[in-house]
Amino acid sequence: MSSCCTLPVEVRIKDLIRIGVVDEFEKDEPPKNVAKRLQKEGIVERFNQKSGIFTLARMSNDDCLYLDRKSRLCTIYDKRPDTCRNHPKVGPRPGYCAYKPKPPAR
Ligand code: SF4
Repeated sequence: MSSCCTLPVEVRIKDLIRIGVVDEFEKDEPPKNVAKRLQKEGIVERFNQKSGIFTLARMSNDDCLYLDRKSRLCTIYDKRPDTCRNHPKVGPRPGYCAYKPKPPAR
C-alpha cells in the first residue's frame, strides 16, 4: 500500500480556493477554463467535467506537488484538501504525511 501523498489527490474547486490557487470569483467561471489555467501552471493534472473533480499534479517521483521532498511534510497542511483530511492515512501527527515508499510493482 502506498500512502496518500504519493497518490493522485482528487480535489474540488473549494479546495483549490482554500489552497489559494483559485480566486473566490473564479468560482463563477466555467470550471473547464479554471482547469486549463491550472494545468498550464502545473498544479492540476486532470479535470473531470462531469464530476467537477480536479486531480492535483504530482512530481516525477509521484509525490504530491505539496509534499516537501526533504521533510516529507505537507507544505500546505492547514489548507490541505478535504481528501487529505479524510484520508485514513493522513497522520499520525499533525503536519506529517505518512509516507511510505511505493512497494515494488507486482
Ligand atoms: S496532505 Fe499535503 S502533501 Fe499530502 S497529498 Fe495532501 S496536499 Fe499533498
